[in-house]
Amino acid sequence: MFKPLEMKEKEKASRSDESPKPREIKRRLKAVKKIRRKKRLEPEEVELPLQVAIIGGGAAGMEAASVLAAHRCPVSLFEARSELAVNVKNKYKIFPDFSDAGQLVQTMVKALDHPLITVHKDTEIVEIIQEPDAYILLDNKGVSHTVPAVLLASGYEPFDAKRKEELGFGIYDGVINSLQLETMLKEHKVVNSLGEEPKRVVFLQCVGSRDEKVGNHYCSKICCVTAVKQAIEVKRQQPDTEVYVFYMDLRLWGQGYEELYRQSQEEYNVHFVRGRISEAASTFDGRIQVKAEDTLLGQPLKMTTDLLVLMIGMEASPGTRKLGKACGLEGLYGFVRSKSVHLEDNLSEQDGFFLAGSCKRPMYIAEAVNDGRSAALEIIKYLRK
Ligand SMILES: Cc1cc2nc3c(=O)[nH]c(=O)nc-3n(C[C@H](O)[C@H](O)[C@H](O)COP(=O)(O)OP(=O)(O)OC[C@H]3O[C@@H](n4cnc5c(N)ncnc54)[C@H](O)[C@@H]3O)c2cc1C
Ligand code: SF4
Repeated sequence: MFKPLEMKEKEKASRSDESPKPREIKRRLKAVKKIRRKKRLEPEEVELPLQVAIIGGGAAGMEAASVLAAHRCPVSLFEARSELAVNVKNKYKIFPDFSDAGQLVQTMVKALDHPLITVHKDTEIVEIIQEPDAYILLDNKGVSHTVPAVLLASGYEPFDAKRKEELGFGIYDGVINSLQLETMLKEHKVVNSLGEEPKRVVFLQCVGSRDEKVGNHYCSKICCVTAVKQAIEVKRQQPDTEVYVFYMDLRLWGQGYEELYRQSQEEYNVHFVRGRISEAASTFDGRIQVKAEDTLLGQPLKMTTDLLVLMIGMEASPGTRKLGKACGLEGLYGFVRSKSVHLEDNLSEQDGFFLAGSCKRPMYIAEAVNDGRSAALEIIKYLRK
């Protein structure tokens, strides 16, 4: 359950907290309801006199903030990093429609320009304390914030491919991850370790996902379509480069994904090989040799490539792991657990504590945005009930 407030922390919280005390929160919410009933006003006609806290300025948290503000509910959005939506901004063109990630972030940031939204960048929430009718959040600057409701939208982090030592990431320059390829694509500069245009690029699926050795049995669900999208982009920028994708099985379940897969083969001549790469090593001339098994033909296979791209999956972010554990909401693989995945996926087992986005499980952007939106509506329902 939530960490009990130690005496020392209690003193620190009361010294630095400029927000109302829990009892005052209850009083203010009651007063608003009274006024609304007396004047026969609709819920959204009355501004809530209290800030809701959102932990995480990613796609889910940002969307939730703008929906809450539109419903006249003041919001404090806390983002640990110095920039918002870094996990979207670090992409170039996003699947499934190759829209521009930078432009999407710009639109989301613009939606936060609202008098009821306060954005706190460089502000990590390090602890959460539950009080009757309120939560006290402590941030990395030693400031505490008392709020009637919290939305946890603390997201994911990309799998660190160094944990798969046998694949040579961080050892050989010719082995990169899918995020590094995004940067190269953005700069229109896909190059091998010698800074030259690669003659061949090999993609490897399921790095850090569906892998017992690293303890992640789940499918990250975004990497199959990311590989297809990136393979097409490589071919668009460098039509003479050969592209191979090594997969266990392709999971292209979303709208438009299968069509993209067909297009990659028919229009761009991308080759798909059913097999797992077990090892990568450097050759004397700076290329990468991979050892694999073609599981359709049942044959071992060796291939040399100029660039090996590891399709990394999504893991719970450190913030998700830490706060999820501290709040007693730890789910599978360090992600947080909602009350029920069917009808109460934005609720947690604690009243007033809500969840949105990829802190719960791997999600793509549209899913995280929709989840943030529905969490905002749940919060409004809760505060105005
Ligand atoms: C390689 C790769 C490629 C991808 N490509 C695509 C694509 O093309 N299209 C697509 O739809 N999706 C893609 N995705 C998925 C996409 O990145 C996610 O769907 C999206 O970022 C999820 O948003 P979120 O808000 O749930 O989480 P996040 O984006 O992770 O945001 C959470 C935020 O919370 C912050 N935070 C964490 N803990 C704290 C704390 N304690 N206090 C304050 N702040 C905190 C983090 O700094 C972070 O900014 C890709 C993912 C990967 C790994
Ligand atoms: S989406 Fe594809 S690459 Fe990613 S874990 Fe699932 S099967 Fe593997």
